[in-house]
Amino acid sequence: MTSDTRPGKAQPIRGFHQDEQGDWVADLACGHGQHVRHRPPWEERPWVTTQAGRAQHIGRILYCVRCEEPPANQD
Ligand SMILES: [Zn+2]
Repeated sequence: MTSDTRPGKAQPIRGFHQDEQGDWVADLACGHGQHVRHRPPWEERPWVTTQAGRAQHIGRILYCVRCEEPPANQD
């Protein structure tokens, strides 16, 4: 057990790619992806729209909830 109570497993960001809708997805070290959308006012991540901004976030930690889901629970 860790003292971290956030859901998901801490994973550093390895890179980014865009999905079919043009939304940005962070590529996590575990191999999963996590959306990092910029769609104000709900989600404000203006940094994700620039190459320099994304580069600054390489290595940042995101919490991957998919790592804790059973494999059968995929949509
Ligand atoms: Zn994961």
